Amino acid sequence: MIKYAIGIDIGGTKISVTLGTSSGKILVRKKILTRTCRESKACLREIGASVAAILGEFNIPKNQMLGIGIGVPGPVNSTKGVLPRSPNLPGWEGVPVCRLLKQKLKLPVFIANDANAAALGEAVFGAGKKMKDFIYITVSTGVGGGLVMNGQIYEGAGFVAGEIGHIGVVPEGKSCKCGGRGCLEAYASGTAIASFYREMSGKKVTGAKEVGLAARSGDRRALQSYLKGAYYLGIGLANLMNILNPEAIVLGGGVFMSSPATYWKALTRSAKDHAWPEAFRTTKILLSPLLGHSGDFGALALVFKNTRP
Ligand SMILES: [Zn+2]
Repeated sequence: MIKYAIGIDIGGTKISVTLGTSSGKILVRKKILTRTCRESKACLREIGASVAAILGEFNIPKNQMLGIGIGVPGPVNSTKGVLPRSPNLPGWEGVPVCRLLKQKLKLPVFIANDANAAALGEAVFGAGKKMKDFIYITVSTGVGGGLVMNGQIYEGAGFVAGEIGHIGVVPEGKSCKCGGRGCLEAYASGTAIASFYREMSGKKVTGAKEVGLAARSGDRRALQSYLKGAYYLGIGLANLMNILNPEAIVLGGGVFMSSPATYWKALTRSAKDHAWPEAFRTTKILLSPLLGHSGDFGALALVFKNTRP
């Protein structure tokens, strides 16, 4: 019997609501713009209505619908299901998202930080299917990550484990939005790549996608900006390899979708140069097969991982 779940990926600009199966088939994906529902209560009502519409449309029997998974930016207490203060989601602090949706939709609801959810997505549907220990890293406007240890997400004492973007890579370096300095995110994220390019060229760009396009069409400074990001990301990977020596580090996020051809080589080269040789030799570096859809698969995986299909 086919089992289904609803995945909700809450982002800074949009919310994606997905209906999928335990084998990884996506049946429908609906988008809600976050700005159309600024206030959390109104937004939850819209999410609830969207889920109800999907359930009605596909008419899935109750015993085949396992529940709802929600990925949110920033750290979240997955047991209590209450959102903490997050710069990405102003106005959602303290909102009992799980309880409210459970009441409305009468289905089990699971919640996790979006990068942790994406890591679970890799474990259930992607590169980590046959692995016990691996690390997932997303490199987009920020840098996030999730640690899968012995098949489970390692959340840490305060639910902030896997905040890979805030590993220090440059002492007293550039300031980071976390309040610290020299974090990986300030040197390897898409935002960082775009700012390297602005510094080098004086040209205005909005993000790494534009820099990637320029690099692919032969702009040397654009290429250098990307390679600089790769160098620092490689240091981050090397540190993780040395601490945990996982089976693999799986990489995803927008920066990989727009990267020039030599980016990957520069990244693995830097990881090799900075890691303990045996740690580098035994840890694979893989590109996520779910690239571009990790949020949806992550939210769905929360359900399939926490229930028994
Ligand atoms: Zn930081």
